[in-house]
Amino acid sequence: MLNIYNTETRTKQPINLSEGEETLKMYTCGPTVYNYAHIGNYRTYVFEDLLRRTIKYFGFPLIQVMNLTDVEDKTIKGAMEKGIPLGVYTQIYKRAFFEDLEALNIQPVEIYSAATDYISEMIEMIETLIEKGIAYQGKDGGVYYSIKHFPSYGRLSHFKIEDLKEGASERVSTDEYDKESATDFVLWKSYDKERDGDVFWDSPFGKGRPGWHVECSAMANRLLGETIDIHVGGIDNIFPHHENEIAQSEGCTGKHFVRHWIHAHHLIVNGKKMSKSLGNFFTLRDLFEKGYTGAEVRYLLLSTHYRTQLNFTLEGLDAARQTLARFSDFIHRLRSATAPSGAPLAPLIEEARTTFKEALGDDLNISVSLAALFEMIKNVNALIDDNKVTKAEGERVLTFLEELNTVIGVLPLKEETLEIPSEIQKAFEKRQGARALKDWAEADKQRDFIQSKGYLIEDSPTGSRVKRQ
Ligand SMILES: [Zn+2]
Repeated sequence: MLNIYNTETRTKQPINLSEGEETLKMYTCGPTVYNYAHIGNYRTYVFEDLLRRTIKYFGFPLIQVMNLTDVEDKTIKGAMEKGIPLGVYTQIYKRAFFEDLEALNIQPVEIYSAATDYISEMIEMIETLIEKGIAYQGKDGGVYYSIKHFPSYGRLSHFKIEDLKEGASERVSTDEYDKESATDFVLWKSYDKERDGDVFWDSPFGKGRPGWHVECSAMANRLLGETIDIHVGGIDNIFPHHENEIAQSEGCTGKHFVRHWIHAHHLIVNGKKMSKSLGNFFTLRDLFEKGYTGAEVRYLLLSTHYRTQLNFTLEGLDAARQTLARFSDFIHRLRSATAPSGAPLAPLIEEARTTFKEALGDDLNISVSLAALFEMIKNVNALIDDNKVTKAEGERVLTFLEELNTVIGVLPLKEETLEIPSEIQKAFEKRQGARALKDWAEADKQRDFIQSKGYLIEDSPTGSRVKRQ
């Protein structure tokens, strides 16, 4: 059973299919493509990937949507500052985002939806809300959602409307134009040449563009239907974004919008909120420049429970590197295991599998899942030390690691040469060639070069390989 904490009910609840449905439908709020995403964003996306892979590991067919917010204030401002069309500007960051996902071994979802491809669905939704008397057009031409017409507003974030009225105007001020109430939020922003440049769409409410919140409601409705099983995001999204999504979707359809709300906690860096002025702001690219790999970042982001604040440090990345090296050594030892006879490993594997899966099923308790893996590694390593692991049993463990890796996606199970930079790989090949010719000076020269780049060569009876130091 896969139990996950539901933000709305504040309890762990089983993930299950709706009656009569054969596929789980999951919506994930994606990036606003105005900049390179930072590691705080990627904490959420890595968590969503872990959730996705776990859902599949538990045997549920899944269709997942991730939106790309390519029209809102920041994308338009960025494009105008650069003097290029909005689509050209956002394309740069969409491409960078997908490169980052690949580097982090985040599985592609079934549907990526760009907001600008669903403007007509957004307009239709706003029209419905106006017809139902839940939305109104302000004097400035913008269309607003009147939250007093949605009595359960606040049920996700557990805020009461009365409480919101006080402190809320500041938080919603970016969306404030000409509203009847400070807590009403914008559905359609009427066109303002100075602010929007040439970005606008025609609509029954005049020229303008959708507000951010309605983008997700319209895409979720169009792509997954009126009721979706799981909606995921960072905790910053709970209020107002997800609260507003509920109001829009349910106001429009009258149906329950989301069965299970799941949110990932914040990431901080060196104990402080990440900010450019503190110098602790990292994009993934910043970390690559420091020599870290996507796998190391993924492991670090993955290994803290998603509902706990994650304190990101470079030391943490170094520790992740060491852990990955342990995995790599273990895999190499399994591949080299050739004891003539030995212990059956099925019981060790079964024990690890049971603990790993039960812990995941308990609100993705990743620490316990990983501990089960480490325990098995320790036990199998001891048997390898005693030359008690046969080739067949070694392969059995490798097959099990493949299974675990469908969930965690960090085990270096591909032949390692693939992860070694090509200049290092070339130097390694030259060194092997020089050794074969007994050209020791050349072999040493190549070895020194490899070491100067942070790699080392390991020679063993089963062959030589190059790996990270
Ligand atoms: Zn969203």
